[in-house]
Amino acid sequence: MSGRPILPISPATASVRAGVDSDAAFGAVVPPIVLSSNFSFEALGTPRTHDYTRSGNPTRDQLVEALAKLEGAAGGVVTSSGMSAILVALYATPRRRGGPPRVLAPTDGYGGTFRLFTSLAERNEIELEWIDAWQTDALVESIERFAPDLVWLETPSNPLLRITDLRAAIEAAHAHGAVVAVDNTFLSPALQTPLALGADVVVHSTTKYINGHSDVVGGAVLARERKTVESVAFWANCLGVTGAPFDSFLTLRGLRTLHLRVRQHEENAAAIVAALEECDAITAIHYPGRAEHPGHAIARSQQRGFGGMISFELAGGRPAVERFVTELRSFTLAESLGGVESLVCHPATMTHAAMTADARERAGICDSLIRLSVGIEDGADLVADLTRAIAVSTSRRSTFVRAPRPRTEVRK
Ligand code: PLP
Repeated sequence: MSGRPILPISPATASVRAGVDSDAAFGAVVPPIVLSSNFSFEALGTPRTHDYTRSGNPTRDQLVEALAKLEGAAGGVVTSSGMSAILVALYATPRRRGGPPRVLAPTDGYGGTFRLFTSLAERNEIELEWIDAWQTDALVESIERFAPDLVWLETPSNPLLRITDLRAAIEAAHAHGAVVAVDNTFLSPALQTPLALGADVVVHSTTKYINGHSDVVGGAVLARERKTVESVAFWANCLGVTGAPFDSFLTLRGLRTLHLRVRQHEENAAAIVAALEECDAITAIHYPGRAEHPGHAIARSQQRGFGGMISFELAGGRPAVERFVTELRSFTLAESLGGVESLVCHPATMTHAAMTADARERAGICDSLIRLSVGIEDGADLVADLTRAIAVSTSRRSTFVRAPRPRTEVRK
């Protein structure tokens, strides 16, 4: 016993200190990266903690431990992508009856989740039902009637930022024996911890806020109960989709600043929403932090903030959208989200192009919809850029000619 007292620490401190000062060999402050694919046995029949990196790796373990602490999980796995995390969560769901598992999933979730679930359903590998999960009564009715093995939730949803009442969904699902998995990518554990509300599994695309620097594709599955942890670890190893050590090292480095970054993302998002509210050319704003948002009260009750994702609709249809994204200087036209840099995206042709036109229409993803991943740049710069681009792209005189990109001058 060292005799050093164990003090409770906040999630922000836990993120910064994850793995710090843990190196017994050299006393390295930052934990060294272990790239080795395999590990020697002490003797025949006596493996060490790790034997092969697909099944376990010290660097990846440090990231798993840090994420589990932040999500309040018994443990989990770090995977090669958010999509492989979703696949692992699906495989790890216990089946209550013979035949393919039944999955209830939200109509307006991430397009890649839609593609995966639809493709599996087409091959009869799952039975699938879609639900407008933000309509609590309809969600509960579907759970009772369809009796799913797995209720898949994503809140706030991508790209329309709709809010699902997690407490109500979890209560109904558990009353009918279903497992609840929540894709927590949009908020990160800094702003929402679904396991604390009773969910069984949390999934992340760590590509987004958790890594936060747009230089790693990765995922994670965290589970509330030990037996689920064993099952997700089994399937991640079995499918061969565990995350690479170098990616885990970078993601752990990104995680250290998660809470700081999220604060700035949110502050900038609030300033942008306030500016959008003043623009006549904006016909709808989807941001749960607005009192007018239909899910505002529920978001307040289950989130610790509203995050850095905003979507809105621009008057003038597709031509105006095209002019707008071309005019922007401080937002890059790109998929993905949650990095330090601001991004703009047109969900109908980019992130949600994998959905059928019918499914997009059902979800409310129209051609005028624009999604912003608000970065951590100076908020005033972002507001100035957006309002200028809106004015230029929606003025009646504007024609679609690509403007020369002005030199970016750094203010003193
Ligand atoms: N879940 C959400 C909410 C996402 O936005 C994404 C990707 O954009 C994914 C999952 C898939 O993650 P990845 O691209 O890391 O596979």
